[in-house]
Amino acid sequence: MFSQASRLKNVRYDIRGPVLRRAQELENAGHRILKLNLGNPAPWGLNTPEAIVADMVHNLPSAEGYSDARGIYSARVAVAQYYQTLGVEHVQPDDVFLGNGVSELIVMSLQALLNTGDEVLVPSPDYPLWTGAVTLCGGQPVHYRCDPAQGWQPDLEHVAASITSRTRALVIINPNNPTGAVYSRETLLGLLEIARRHGLLVLSDEIYDKIVYDEARHLCAAALAPDLLVLTMGGLSKTYRAAGFRSGWMAVSGPATHATEYLEGLQLLANMRLCPNVPAQHAVQTALGGFQSITTLIRPGGRLYEQREHAWRKMTEIPGVDCVKPEGALYLFARLDPEVHKIRDDQRLIIDLLEQQLMLLSHGTGFNLPTPDHLRMVFLAPVDVLDDATDRLRRFLETYQQ
Ligand code: PLP
Repeated sequence: MFSQASRLKNVRYDIRGPVLRRAQELENAGHRILKLNLGNPAPWGLNTPEAIVADMVHNLPSAEGYSDARGIYSARVAVAQYYQTLGVEHVQPDDVFLGNGVSELIVMSLQALLNTGDEVLVPSPDYPLWTGAVTLCGGQPVHYRCDPAQGWQPDLEHVAASITSRTRALVIINPNNPTGAVYSRETLLGLLEIARRHGLLVLSDEIYDKIVYDEARHLCAAALAPDLLVLTMGGLSKTYRAAGFRSGWMAVSGPATHATEYLEGLQLLANMRLCPNVPAQHAVQTALGGFQSITTLIRPGGRLYEQREHAWRKMTEIPGVDCVKPEGALYLFARLDPEVHKIRDDQRLIIDLLEQQLMLLSHGTGFNLPTPDHLRMVFLAPVDVLDDATDRLRRFLETYQQ
């Protein structure tokens, strides 16, 4: 008998749990499911730019061996220069770790930091790998509230009130998944001041940094706090539509002198995984240095812009549904008015929606929101598909009761 390791007992990653299993069962039974549950651009014809693929193909013959454990030099130079241009002045190639996606770096950054019971401040709602990885590493996720009435900006008072003597780190996800919030300068300065006052490591997940709409401007947290130790994360999955390449990076900035042990721990973990996938690392320099085709997608007339407009309008026309308009990223995080819909179990709702309408969305509590009254829909699909999706949701909600 093989039982599960006890360290996994409380690890949650529900957005890929029972909901996805049920979708797979339905697919195995021959049903076609409309899947708007994943931030995966390529299946919707939002393909990786040619130059990036060509670069990888060109370098394939020389990518057979292991690389430096942190990643190939040209990619680390490109990442360091990228953050320098964003105002993170002193970041150098040796401060950069490449990873098999940001996912791997999230886990590494926490594994190197946490002892049993150490607390990490994580936004609620969050991209749930953050909560899951804190738990996996023996830590205690402590969720801070983000306020829909303020466009889902973090509630700074709640962040400050959540600090204890065990708090070690503050997670920032900006632009945010699932809410689409892009944090203001004031919010970021407030968060960073709390980290400063309490000596916290700042873990800043900025994977959507170039996917912002309208007047929203993304600000790199590390550039606003050169005196703090900040790990800034980004990658190829979203902006460069190359999620399958599994390529991400993490730049360490700020005073490294009081973090030498921690950084040695990161290096140890990097060494133990030998190196990230080498062919995909070759794409990083071209991605960051070349034409930023994402800019054509996020401005009026561009696919992502128009899909966001359309999906948001259609979603908010459904009776009893409202949604803060996302300023960034790829998601609508819509609220089902509890007065109208009275949902007690949002995972059940998503499974019922799947079975009745053959459509897969994600439930809000899967993103560690405490109340079962939100769902997330990806707006990567073309407008006719988004039309169909919102029609299915409207039809479903017309009669749905729990
Ligand atoms: N961080 C956030 C906020 C995300 O939304 C995602 C993927 O959806 C990731 C990290 C993981 O990205 P990667 O594909 O680089 O592992």
